[in-house]
Amino acid sequence: MLVVMNASATREQIDAVAARIRQFGYEPHVIPGATRTAIGITGNRGPEGRDVLVMLPGVEDVVRVTAGYKLVSRETHTEASVFSIAGTRVGDGFTLIAGPCAVESESMTIESARFLRGLGVNLMRAGAFKPRTSPYAFQGLGDEGLRILAKVKQETGIGIVTEVLDVENAAAVEEVADVLQVGTRNMQNYALLRRLSRASKPVLLKRGMAATVEEWLLAAEYLMAGGNRQVILCERGVRTFADHTRNTLDLSIIPVVKHLSHLPVIIDPSHGTGRAEYVPAMSRAALAAGADGLIVEVHPRPREALSDGQQSLDFATFERMYATLKPLARVLDVELL
Ligand code: PEP
Ligand code: MN
Repeated sequence: MLVVMNASATREQIDAVAARIRQFGYEPHVIPGATRTAIGITGNRGPEGRDVLVMLPGVEDVVRVTAGYKLVSRETHTEASVFSIAGTRVGDGFTLIAGPCAVESESMTIESARFLRGLGVNLMRAGAFKPRTSPYAFQGLGDEGLRILAKVKQETGIGIVTEVLDVENAAAVEEVADVLQVGTRNMQNYALLRRLSRASKPVLLKRGMAATVEEWLLAAEYLMAGGNRQVILCERGVRTFADHTRNTLDLSIIPVVKHLSHLPVIIDPSHGTGRAEYVPAMSRAALAAGADGLIVEVHPRPREALSDGQQSLDFATFERMYATLKPLARVLDVELL
C-alpha cells in the first residue's frame, strides 16, 4: 500500500502516520515529492489497516499497489497452468466442453455424450442441480441426474463437467464429476469456495454476473489458498444496459486475465449471448482472442429443452461450428482439444 498525504500535510502528521504504520507491524518508507509526500508500506500481506490510515489527519488517500491475489497471479507463477482432465489438457490448446444445460433424462444425456464423443470432444457439460431464477422452473434431476451422469461416463468414457450448487451436495457431485462447476450466482459464495478448495477435482469458476476482474480472481484465490490448485476461469457474460443479448459477453477479459493470471480462461458463448444463432460467431472470436476453450450448450432437440433451449445448438449446428473452428485453430497454431 501507498499512503498519499495531501499537499498541506505537516511534518507532525507525516510522522504520526509513519508511527501508526509501525504499530501495525509494517515498515513505513517516507518518499518526499515536489508537492506532496507519499509513504510506502512494506511487510503487509493485504490491505489491513487501510481503513484506519485513510482517516488520519493529512492523509489524502491510501492506494493498493499489489493485487490482493497471490497464488492466482502471474507474478508468482509465470508459466501458464495446464490441467490434464479426462483426455484433454486444459490450458494447452483450445478445449471444447459441450452438452445440454441440464440432465433431462438418461436417453438424451447418452445421446449427447455419444454425439460429442464421435466428434472427439472429451468433456461434456450437463447440470444435475440447476440454479433457476424461478422456483417453479425445472430445478434439475438432482441425485438421479448424478446417477445418470455416472452411467453415461462409464458407458462412453466422456469427462463430466457439472455444477455444485451448495456445500450440502458437494461430496456427491465430487464423486461423479471430472470438473466441478461453480455458477455465476455462486462466485462469491465463500462457504462453497472454501469447501471446494479442499476438493480433489478441478473447479470451473464462472465469473459473477456483476463481478470485476479483481473480485473474480480473489474468488479463485479462495480455491487456491485452501489447496485446490486446479482452477479454470470461465467468462459467461455480465449485466449491462444492453438488452440485445441475454448478457454482455466480455471477451476483452481474455487478454486481461491472461496478463494477470496463469490460470486458463474459457468462454461460455451460450449464456453470454442467450441465442443459439450468435454462439458460432462468439466461439470463433473467443478462439481468436486467445481463450483456452469453450463451454457450449448443445441439445439433441433444443425446442424440447427443459432449460436454455433458445441458446442451445442442435447437433448439426454444433458440428458445423466445430468445422469452422478447425481452420482458424490451424492459422493460430492452436490445438483443438
Ligand atoms: C449453466 O451453465 O447452465 C449455468 C446456469 O450457468 P451460469 O451460472 O453462468 O448462469
Ligand atoms: Mn444453462
